[in-house]
Amino acid sequence: ARRFVLASRPVGEPKTTDLQLEEFAVPQPGTGEVLLRTLFLSLDPYMRGRMSDAKSYAAPVPIGGVMEGGTVSEVIASNNPKFAVGDIVLGRTGWQTHSLSDGASLRKVDPSLVPISTALGVLGMPGMTAYAGLLEVGKPKAGETLVVAAASGAVGAMVGQIARIKGLRVVGIAGGADKCRYVKNELGFDDCIDHRAPDLPGRLATACPNGIDIYFENVAGPVLDAVLPLLNTFARIPICGTIAHYNDTAPPAGPDKLPSVWRMILSKRLTVRGLLVTDFATMHDDFQRDVSGWLKDGRIKYREDIVAGFENAPRALIGLLRGENFGKLLVRVAER
Ligand code: NDP
Repeated sequence: ARRFVLASRPVGEPKTTDLQLEEFAVPQPGTGEVLLRTLFLSLDPYMRGRMSDAKSYAAPVPIGGVMEGGTVSEVIASNNPKFAVGDIVLGRTGWQTHSLSDGASLRKVDPSLVPISTALGVLGMPGMTAYAGLLEVGKPKAGETLVVAAASGAVGAMVGQIARIKGLRVVGIAGGADKCRYVKNELGFDDCIDHRAPDLPGRLATACPNGIDIYFENVAGPVLDAVLPLLNTFARIPICGTIAHYNDTAPPAGPDKLPSVWRMILSKRLTVRGLLVTDFATMHDDFQRDVSGWLKDGRIKYREDIVAGFENAPRALIGLLRGENFGKLLVRVAER
């Protein structure tokens, strides 16, 4: 069996050497335990945070510890009456090809209903983040305008599509012409703007003639700068992520914008609220029901970016923070 452990805490952009591949003996399940073979490992932006020991909402991975991560696995041996060999389960078993579990934190995935990888994406943590963050914090109303960046990604694609279902005008922001074309033509956003092309503020203003009522924050950085002047009175800003800053080593140069932003929150009566997907566990059943239905009706589409080979996980995580992924990023660790 193989696993990746955290070898060193990255400074700035992670290096592949910050993660070290180790071999270990496939463990034997004890009483009440199951042995799992990892099929898919989810790669997510929060993993950059777990590599750092800066104060956060979750404890860091210790040096030498197995990297955390969500997985879909197959039960290959079971001493637990609730699980049979061959069951497919969602868990948080980390960056390893095999793992043991007492079953308490596993959820079965029915491969006859959906592709099993969707439990890590559209029907999993990122989908739930989008659903809860938009509906509970964004409070969308038909006819309003929503802007979301990382729009072709796991969270952003769902935010925009759900907002379209709720009758909003939806403007995406994405990196590059291919992603923008996909967001408009396949996902059905009203518009999509390339944040890498010149004059982002001007093009965003043109795309939002009635201003912005919801800015679903995934990235911060220059995208946030372009959004701020367009916000309407009583706009809502669910703060989900700030990926443009995850590799920062120092505060951005230039004047301190906080006093003027703080004043704008007052004068425009903005609602700015941070969200963690774990805050919304009570919405899980509604989420599963609604999104499964929308998938079946073809009202929600999703795209996966599947990297082959467990050994390529570190390189792929580095790429995620550069925008090299196109869709929900997964590593195929083993074939079913
Ligand atoms: P994505 O699939 O969207 O992948 C990340 C994308 O971020 C990249 O593809 C890239 O898209 C974009 N990006 C990277 N760097 C920059 C940059 N400097 N400026 C602008 N865009 C950038 O990932 P997820 O959907 O999993 O995550 C999206 C956001 O949601 C992240 O901020 C993540 O931390 C957050 N999140 C928060 C959760 C919570 O509970 N609060 C739960 C899950 C996710 P492009 O090429 O289009 O720029």
